[in-house]
Amino acid sequence: MSHDTRATKLVPVSDALPLVSHWIDGKLVEGASARTGEVFDPATGRVTKRVAFASVADVDTAVAAATGAFAAWRSSSLAERTKVLFRFRELLQLRADDLAAIITSEHGKNLGDALGEVTRGLEVVDFACGMPHLLKGSFSEGVSTRVDVYSIRQPLGVAAIISPFNFPAMVPCWFFPIAIGAGNAVIVKPSEKDPSAANWLAELWAEAGLPAGVFNVVHGDKVAVDALLEHPGVRSVSFVGSTPVARYVYETATRAGKRVQALGGAKNHMVVLPDADLDLAADAAVNAGFGSAGERCMAISAVVAVGAVADQLVAKIAERVAGLRVGDGREGADMGPLITRAHLDRVSSYLDSGVDAGAELVVDGRTRDFDGDPEGFWLGPTLFDRVTPDMSLYTDEILGPVLSVVRVDTYDDALTLVNTNPYGNGTAIFTNDGGAARRFQNEVEVGMVGVNVPIPVPVAYYSFGGWKHSLFGDSHAHGLDGVHFFTRTKVVTSRWLDPSHGGVDLGFPQNE
Ligand code: NAD
Repeated sequence: MSHDTRATKLVPVSDALPLVSHWIDGKLVEGASARTGEVFDPATGRVTKRVAFASVADVDTAVAAATGAFAAWRSSSLAERTKVLFRFRELLQLRADDLAAIITSEHGKNLGDALGEVTRGLEVVDFACGMPHLLKGSFSEGVSTRVDVYSIRQPLGVAAIISPFNFPAMVPCWFFPIAIGAGNAVIVKPSEKDPSAANWLAELWAEAGLPAGVFNVVHGDKVAVDALLEHPGVRSVSFVGSTPVARYVYETATRAGKRVQALGGAKNHMVVLPDADLDLAADAAVNAGFGSAGERCMAISAVVAVGAVADQLVAKIAERVAGLRVGDGREGADMGPLITRAHLDRVSSYLDSGVDAGAELVVDGRTRDFDGDPEGFWLGPTLFDRVTPDMSLYTDEILGPVLSVVRVDTYDDALTLVNTNPYGNGTAIFTNDGGAARRFQNEVEVGMVGVNVPIPVPVAYYSFGGWKHSLFGDSHAHGLDGVHFFTRTKVVTSRWLDPSHGGVDLGFPQNE
């Protein structure tokens, strides 16, 4: 099915723009609230749709639908649930290009990058297709006379998933295939900036045969989020977004008695040791710094040049940056626009503050030609050298195409820099010294580490998550952490009575 065919399913609103509605109980629902938000095509700067903003009553409706559907879904057999997962997987693989086109039209990242995001999401669906194996409990026969003990994993109930703008398909996919495969019902609250991917996924679930109400989407802003965080019918919250909101979500939802994993922002360092292959390191810095216009939580934003490598490394990065094509992601550009004009203004402001603070502006993205509509939210790749840890260029998560080079003298200085940073999402070391790399992976206080790999996003059967201010809660996303997050264990002690063991005994049970 083409992107256009699906788009016509959107409900038109009075000002002739289509409205992205909620998806509740297996159908599009306009909702009780009259509040809506604008959805832009960042490559043209034009508003292309409006998105419904849920009221508290809309969230109540979604929770009621999910609660109703959960009762039957949790009781469906593993065989039945797995069949639905496999059908969903096949459809998603077949139509990945359609979803990528939707992502590019609302986010701006180029089509190849959007397809890459879908593919990484698909890997979690693959993983969840193994749910019968993942949910297996354990059994101990004969722990006492005629007594057996076994453990089982059961779903939680209604799981809320709140996602950011930068991965409108992949981030929800980190959670919902596992949640659904384990027997939960879910409510996804996507970013209001690129909401259509979630509705597309909802339609795909329906086509795959998932019962209505097991996968729901409510759109909106803080009102919708707060309603989910406080709702007594919601059992768990999986959040991904900026650190201040992640902290707020974690504190609010745990206070309301929910299980919470809240993944926050990042400031990722790439350490380049003097013995590194500098061409490899420069390629990696450019790919990881400017891919998706730097709007990735795993983007490299600080290159830490150790010892004498800095001059050569900066020259090599600058040379590569000069060849990047900035433009409409549908037209073969390397780098698309930023998500909104407000974000463009915010990111651009760091160029002024960096210069004012004394950093050396090596490549100025504001002067870069772009191939696209002049009203698009364009900023070219920007490179700063001689950035120091006190500058806002270094302290803040910029989430844009701005790469800073920080010069340090030794490995120990580099390690101290990374470990004193409040974020701990991803990091990488570039070196040909196995001993140094091994020491780094042991000593660095970051959740995901790359050795000559700049964006070390774990495969789906490992878990994704940072340390420190990059994650609030105990569980990372997907892998076994995901299975454990979306289930709770029960341990059963059973005895099939032998008449000789009858009789009254008020003592504490002991194993014989
Ligand atoms: P954001 O925090 O602004 O929004 C995330 C979600 O929270 C959205 O659904 C939004 O509607 C909602 N929200 C926003 N403000 C809120 C508030 N005050 N109260 C309640 N809900 C609120 O994040 P964003 O700008 O959409 O995404 C970019 C951020 O996400 C970056 O910080 C990036 O590093 C982070 N991110 C982290 C990871 C990770 O794995 N750690 C992955 C992707 C993105």
